[in-house]
This record gives sequence, structure tokens and C-alpha cells, in this order.
Amino acid sequence: MRSPDSYWLESGPQWTATHRPPPARTELCVLGAGVMGSTLAYWLARDGRRPVVLDRNPAPAMGSSGRNAGRMIQGGNLQHAPAVEKFGHAEALAIYRATLRNQDLLDEVTEREGLGGTRFTTAKIDLAVSEDEALELERTADALTADGIAAAWLDADGVRRAFGTELSDDVIGGLHKPDQDAVHSVAYVRGIAAAAVRHGAEFCLGVTATTVEPHGGRWLVRTDAGTVEADQVVVALNAWTPRLLPELDPFITPVRGQLVQTAPVPFRIPQWGLDRGLLYGGQAPDGSLLVGGLRNTVPGRDEGIAVEPGANTPLFAPDLADRLADALPALLPEARGAEVVRAWSGVMAFTPDRRPLVGRWPGAEGLWVMAAFNGHGMPYSQIVPQQLAERMAGGDGGHIPLTFDPARFLTGGGTS
Ligand SMILES: Cc1cc2nc3c(=O)[nH]c(=O)nc-3n(C[C@H](O)[C@H](O)[C@H](O)COP(=O)(O)OP(=O)(O)OC[C@H]3O[C@@H](n4cnc5c(N)ncnc54)[C@H](O)[C@@H]3O)c2cc1C
Repeated sequence: MRSPDSYWLESGPQWTATHRPPPARTELCVLGAGVMGSTLAYWLARDGRRPVVLDRNPAPAMGSSGRNAGRMIQGGNLQHAPAVEKFGHAEALAIYRATLRNQDLLDEVTEREGLGGTRFTTAKIDLAVSEDEALELERTADALTADGIAAAWLDADGVRRAFGTELSDDVIGGLHKPDQDAVHSVAYVRGIAAAAVRHGAEFCLGVTATTVEPHGGRWLVRTDAGTVEADQVVVALNAWTPRLLPELDPFITPVRGQLVQTAPVPFRIPQWGLDRGLLYGGQAPDGSLLVGGLRNTVPGRDEGIAVEPGANTPLFAPDLADRLADALPALLPEARGAEVVRAWSGVMAFTPDRRPLVGRWPGAEGLWVMAAFNGHGMPYSQIVPQQLAERMAGGDGGHIPLTFDPARFLTGGGTS
């Protein structure tokens, strides 16, 4: 059986917090109730403010945040050793540390808001099937260890012991990182959104924003349910961000991501990645296996795909789902015979340098962007909103890595 809706959306809690038409005037308006917008609303509300969140869907987490693999893997898109080479040690470490702080915040927030049941912790093992990737992962283990971060290179036997199952003979070793988080994506995001409402945020859902424009020192957000005037606006619309901020169109590429899910299996495995993350997987709390990726088997690597206006996901590709289903037993012989019960797609937003866009819109007081997490938003899903909330209150927000600043692509002058 195949379904375009995710396991998380099917098995997650219903959204019950009130929605209402948006107010004509608010201090803070957050566009998007994915993990980023919902968590920003949470941190703003925890600080005693009353943000208004608008989303075109009737519940939070109906975009990519409810269709992902739920993995919160520490570190940025690149492994640490190549990240150090590309960005320099200070910036690569800032990115990694942001994700470690994220885990501390995740501990604090899930404990405080009674959301412990929405997350689970496993190791992550990046598997190497080629000598050059093995070298990169070994160097990464060394670089992380030198920075005081727990990680180890495991040889072929070690990786099989850590996995606890047979693995393809092609696997020659792997990078082991303990204590990586995963969440039930929808339960987690809706839990955070509900906590935001308890702290004073308003979620006005089923409302599509069409434009954001300057207006006498404030911002006007036009929607299909009226106009909202706000002192500060945050655009957290993932791949849909350029619809409101067209200046970002050249810098945000919509990319399809797709996953398949098996029936529960009687063994447990860590989260894993293969071929520099082009194939990846994990296990849901019910024991089912999730496998995603293989964009490299699709023309153009599924980059620049179309997402219809109003749709939450690009068209589902059954042939890609078949390839993902076949890849699982090829890697993990014990998964042979595990029935594939579901598959779904979602949209990711990539930037040319594979770093997110987070910060003030250059030259525009009160307009912020928090988008384009390059298929890797979850490990920033507390720290970035929390730090952005701090910046919006006039603070430093210094734990957002400098290279996330949207000014790197924009010349300034405000939005038209
Ligand atoms: C298949 C797949 C697997 C993934 N796996 C992982 C993973 O394991 N780990 C990880 O870290 N990341 C993963 N990602 C990426 C992750 O899902 C994203 O980084 C994250 O969800 C981005 O959150 P967001 O809040 O920015 O976007 P979204 O959750 O997409 O939220 C954007 C919101 O904007 C709303 N919206 C859009 N346009 C409008 C409008 N005009 N007006 C009002 N509302 C609007 C949408 O309804 C949506 O709710 C995966 C992505 C995919 C597709």
C-alpha cells in the first residue's frame, strides 16, 4: 500500500487549539506553522509576547515538517572534516555547536512541556562503501574528537556490532555518533505549537499569505482572510518563501524528498546514512523502518521540481519509491521480506551554499526570514527559533551561525 500522506500525519495528534480569523493588527506575525514558525512562536510567547502565526493549512506540520524522517542529527549538512575545510574551523564549529545547543534546548523544552514521548534517542552511523568516503568519515571522527565531541570511526566488524544486524558486504566501516535524537514529527511540532498557544501565541490557520510589504514603518501582510499589520514579520515558509519574498527566488531551489516505510520489524537499528547521505534511514518508535533519498537516481537529482500553489508536496514518484524499497534489503539483509506499507514525498528548500537563510532582511527593520534548511532543519529547530526570538527582542541571538545571514545573497534596500 502506498499513500501520499506521511506516517506522522496519519498517526499524529489532531490539532485542537482554536483558530480564528487573523487580527487586523499585531506586534509580531509569523508566517508558516512548520517546525520553524511554530517553535519561533513558542519562544516568543515564552518571553511574554503574543505572536500571531498564519498558515494556509488547517493544522501545524502539514508542510515538510510533517513529512520528513524525523531525524535530528547533530552537525550541519556536511560532515565536520569537510565543513572545516570549506568554512574554516570557527564557522564549522559554530554550526556544530548550534546543533549541540539545540539538543540541550530540546531536553529542556520537551521536559517542561510534557513532550518527552514525542522523541527518542539512538546512535547515528554513517556507513562507508568507498575508500574516499571512509577516509572522510575517519577524518571527521578525528576532527570531532579534537573538538571534544563524541564520535568514533568503526571498522567493518565494529559497524556490524554497533548495528546489531548483518550489513551488505560493501560496507567497510562507519562513523558512529551516540545520542542523536529523532522525533515523531507531527506530535512534536503540534506539541510545541500547543505549548506556544498555552504561553499566549495565536495560531490563525487556513489563512494564505499573499504579500508582505512595508507600510509606514510597519509591515502589511495581505492574506485571503484580510490584511494584518505588524511591527515585525517573520517569513518561515520553506520552499514557498520566494512567493512572498521574490528576491529569494534565485537562491531557493525546491527539491523533492521521498521516503518509504516498512511494517514493524523485530530488531532495532541506529539511524544511518550511506553515500554521503544520498540514501538514509532510521526506525520509527513502532519498529518500522524508514528509508529515504536516492535523489541521485532521478534526472536533475529532483532539484527545481514544481510544487503546485496550495499543494504541500510535489508529485509522488512511484518508481523512486520502488528503488528505495529495493535498496533496503540490499543494505540490510534482515529487512528482506519486510513489507513496504507506505511511501510519501515532501519538498526541501536548497540554497546554493547549502546553508539556511536566517536573520534580518537587509535594510528592512522588522522583516525577518527563517527558511531554506536544505533538508536538514530539525537539528536547528530549537536553537534557531530561540535565538531569532532573542534578536527580535533586540538581543544578540549570537548562536545563529554567521553564515546563515540572508545578506550573503541580498544587496539590501528592503522588499518591494
Ligand atoms: C522527505 C523528507 C525527509 C526529510 N527528513 C529530514 C530529517 O530526517 N531531518 C531533518 O533535519 N530534516 C529533514 N527534512 C527537512 C525538514 O523537513 C525541513 O528542514 C523542515 O521541516 C523545515 O521546516 P519549515 O518550518 O521551514 O518548513 P515547513 O514545515 O514546510 O513549513 C512551512 C509552512 O508554510 C506554510 N505555507 C506555505 N505557503 C504559505 C502561504 N502563502 N501562506 C501561509 N502559509 C504558507 C505551509 O503550509 C507550511 O506549514 C526532510 C524533508 C523531506 C521532504
